[in-house]
Amino acid sequence: MNKKKENQNQSGVNGKTLRAVLYARVSSKEQEKEGFSIPAQLQLLKGYAQSKGFQISQEFIDVETAKAAGRTQFREMVKFFQANPEVKILLVEKTDRLYRNFRDYVTLEDLDLEIHLVKEGEVLNKESRSHVKFIHGIKVLMAKNYIDNLSEEVKKGHLEKAKQGEYPGKAPLGYLNNQKDATIEIEQEKAKYVRRMFELAATGRHSFKTIRETVMGEGLEFYSPKIRLSKSHVERILKNPFYTGSFLWNGALYQGKYAPLLSRTQFDLVQEKIGNRKKGKQRKHFFAYSGLLLCGKCGCLVTAELKKGRYVYYHCTKSKGSCDEMYYREEDLAPQFDAIVKGITIDPSIRDWLVQALKESHKDETAYNQQTISRLQSELLKLKNRLDQLYLDKVDGKVSEAFWMEKSREWQTDQDRILDQMRAHQGADRRYYDDGLKLLELASRAYELYAKQLPEQKNRFLKIVLSNCTLEHATVRPTYKKPFDLFAKGVETGKWGE
Ligand SMILES: [Zn+2]
Repeated sequence: MNKKKENQNQSGVNGKTLRAVLYARVSSKEQEKEGFSIPAQLQLLKGYAQSKGFQISQEFIDVETAKAAGRTQFREMVKFFQANPEVKILLVEKTDRLYRNFRDYVTLEDLDLEIHLVKEGEVLNKESRSHVKFIHGIKVLMAKNYIDNLSEEVKKGHLEKAKQGEYPGKAPLGYLNNQKDATIEIEQEKAKYVRRMFELAATGRHSFKTIRETVMGEGLEFYSPKIRLSKSHVERILKNPFYTGSFLWNGALYQGKYAPLLSRTQFDLVQEKIGNRKKGKQRKHFFAYSGLLLCGKCGCLVTAELKKGRYVYYHCTKSKGSCDEMYYREEDLAPQFDAIVKGITIDPSIRDWLVQALKESHKDETAYNQQTISRLQSELLKLKNRLDQLYLDKVDGKVSEAFWMEKSREWQTDQDRILDQMRAHQGADRRYYDDGLKLLELASRAYELYAKQLPEQKNRFLKIVLSNCTLEHATVRPTYKKPFDLFAKGVETGKWGE
């Protein structure tokens, strides 16, 4: 946004009336409650527009129902702003009417608007007072954090299953997932081919290719006629300890609750024949600053290299041609990254003040969460009804056994996916507030904690905070991600509440 005169968001500057867009949103649940209705929001926004002398160009209204979760009018509004770049003002009741996830935030940020949060009495634009933007940034970060939590919750659920001996994924060839009681059963018809593959491999006279050809010749049908068994399928099957009763999940081996297809000895013998001996544990070297730096001269990625087993050097990859940027020792970069982390370490009093903002946004998030869960529940019920009906159709002979098998497998997979999502949302909601507190706690102790970490953890932390830093003439220039840029600015200037 270009620099504006102080009072340009008032009407009548240079005799020109400014045009504004209204956006209102309610969820179906809120509609029942007084004060949350669309008319109430519109009344507030229109009154505000009038008092400021804005001319209203367009109104966009989203009413969400359990069925349609998408916000079509939000997307229409974005299109409108793109098509009418002269319109820059957006009026909305409060922050959570506007953003539902991180992507929304970024989308609007790119449009370079002046957003009036009427109820909150705030105006956001590039020249907003830093603390307004800061609180805003924190809320947005929390929304993003919530999204990130979802995938983590899914992983956590899987890990829990794995510890109980339940394989959290789709069973490999020769087995079937029995969805009803979450067990895994042998699928005899296919299992005999899996045993046959191991038998052939154990002779040591076969390649993956000839094993593939043999079992196909003997009548193995893979998952579907469309997917043909490949050499790499054969290889994966032969290297999969799953068939001995233990399974790998996220790099760890768990004892499964299902029946094995072969003994450990048989399996080990095959591993020897196919050359899948365990390699000695190779310790990967972690570079604290890899993937974080771009060459300041040519823009190429800066890569790290280990020399003589202990010296770490960083240098330009020179993928765009020659570049004379030098090699730098990791020790020379370390103090600079330390300073960067110190640059976002906030004062405890600032932290306490931010906790207040967090409490507020938690209320909004919980409402969103509950709405999502009830939508998932109804999807789940729909699938269950379909499955029941299909079963009846099969019993009545209306559909074939094969069709029933195929469809019910497909729908059961859908059910599993929804259940995973529900678990994730439930977990994410619990963690939303806790994580926010942790984040602020972290920001107030950022440097202290960072200093104690291993290179791998440091790297992960820096990637959360930074993007595309440059390295030139031995100097690292950081670019902080949102809202850490605001942390950095606040720390630098000491101005938080102005
Ligand atoms: Zn370079």
